[in-house]
Amino acid sequence: MGATKQTLRKLLVAFSTIAVLVSCNKDETSTTTPVSTEVPAVYKKVYGATSITSDGTYIYFKTKNLPDHKSPYYATTNPLYEAYNGSTFGGNEFKKNPNTIAEYNATVKIPLNPKVDASHPATPLGAIGIALNGVALFNQYAGPNNQALAGEIVSFDKYYGHPQNSGVYHYHVEPLYLTTVKSKKSGLMGFLLDGFPVYGPQEENGTTVTSSMLDAYHGHTHATVDYPNGIYHYHFTADSPYLNGNGYYGTPGTVTQ
Ligand SMILES: [Zn+2]
Ligand SMILES: [Zn+2]
Repeated sequence: MGATKQTLRKLLVAFSTIAVLVSCNKDETSTTTPVSTEVPAVYKKVYGATSITSDGTYIYFKTKNLPDHKSPYYATTNPLYEAYNGSTFGGNEFKKNPNTIAEYNATVKIPLNPKVDASHPATPLGAIGIALNGVALFNQYAGPNNQALAGEIVSFDKYYGHPQNSGVYHYHVEPLYLTTVKSKKSGLMGFLLDGFPVYGPQEENGTTVTSSMLDAYHGHTHATVDYPNGIYHYHFTADSPYLNGNGYYGTPGTVTQ
């Protein structure tokens, strides 16, 4: 009896030692699994960013927010200054606003794995996303209290952007330089702060996208060249609200100066 008890005790000690060893190993492996801070290729398409990094949860774009195309809104001494010579969005006569493009150093932080947010937070005035050339994307309003954009459209330059009163250049509608020079009508145009991508006004098969084909947030889900497994994405459209509807589809990140 005594010998059996001793053997049992030895066995128990041995088992608990193994259990401790196993759990220790488990702890070690879970805490040392490295978080990938690699930036997926799709984000590197934002060629205007001065740096693109990741902490494994978010992607961080640093930008000076200066358009890489000519504009009558650059100071006349700037090599990218060009007197207005295009046609406006909507075909109205161009009316320059009094603002001049200024550098706006910002960090745009977006989730690496965008997720739907059932509350669909409203988009604020100011930057709601970043275009491939590092320029800010703005929503469909001209000012507080959802002031209509209609009166501002005449001040869009030939690439459909303009600066606000502190010189921050931005697009509310299709960024024509990206859809016609740098990429194409169906190309990736950038990202909204919720991390979901923004595409041009056409699908890959040439179909022109209109707002009626999209949901209340101005997007829909299907496979794209950049996301062959399918993803929710916004589209620029020629008709209002142009880029975003009733708020973000997902949980937005931030823009900080
Ligand atoms: Zn504006
Ligand atoms: Zn689409």
